[in-house]
Amino acid sequence: MWIVGEGPPRPRLHDRPELPDQCPQVLGGKIDVPLDLIGATPVRELEPGEFLRVQGSPPEVDKLPSLPSKPHQRCIFELVYFSRPDSTIFGRSVDRVRRALGRELAREHPAPDADCVFSVPDSSNAMALGFAEESGLKLEHALIRNHYVGRTFINPTQASRNAKVKIKFNPVREVLAGKKVVVVDDSLVRGTTSRELVQMIRQAGAREVHFRVASAPITGPCYYGIDTPTKSELIASSHSLAEIRGHLGVESLGYLSLEGMLRAAGGDPSEFCHACFSGRYPTAIPDDVQKARHAAPLVTMAV
Ligand code: SF4
Repeated sequence: MWIVGEGPPRPRLHDRPELPDQCPQVLGGKIDVPLDLIGATPVRELEPGEFLRVQGSPPEVDKLPSLPSKPHQRCIFELVYFSRPDSTIFGRSVDRVRRALGRELAREHPAPDADCVFSVPDSSNAMALGFAEESGLKLEHALIRNHYVGRTFINPTQASRNAKVKIKFNPVREVLAGKKVVVVDDSLVRGTTSRELVQMIRQAGAREVHFRVASAPITGPCYYGIDTPTKSELIASSHSLAEIRGHLGVESLGYLSLEGMLRAAGGDPSEFCHACFSGRYPTAIPDDVQKARHAAPLVTMAV
């Protein structure tokens, strides 16, 4: 059995000595949550370019020669959106980073006259919590997510995504009626789904909607395994803040800055890839972009 570590996927090494003999005692996985569920003990994250060989019973782990060391470029979107909040990524609690993103957002884009703040569940829950902690606004549950509907962004067409938004979320009218509200979302990609959400919130009686995004504007695609839309589909690549605010139909709109994201992530900012936000790609972009983007299995990204 070989475990290969190669960023941005992050296999981890886990040990479960209490397993019966016939079960594997050394396990690898991208995140620790499923391994927590079966009682595995985290050992450590694999470094980019690191190779381990696991063999024998009981298993022995050999460290093989690694690829030449290069500066780390860890995907900051893992902390913003992809990873589960109860996981540990790059040595950081995802929950703690997301709360910090929410606090940074509240400092950069406060909404002092609002009555309450709530998340677009579930990926933004910890960010809304951080926003509430920092701002002093009351945290509400104003959107209830239907857990039996799949992720909206997996649907290939905009029409199917829009239809799913309506059945994926239901507003709590008693919370929203007559209120000035702050909505916290983790990211804004195309913007169309968020517009549907805002309309739903208004129809439920909200008087003002202040939209806050706990990451910077996404202006470019990912070439490292995340199935982002093309540049032309990314609303922030071709629209000003005022235009996006108008598109969403909200009283105010605030994105967290890249600097705020990096502060929330903590550690050395130079260790992160943030190319889809900043345009600073850590590698040369290949000429045949489509071929390069789809040469490896992709992970799909939010709308
Ligand atoms: S371009 Fe964006 S999604 Fe892709 S690895 Fe970098 S930060 Fe992550």
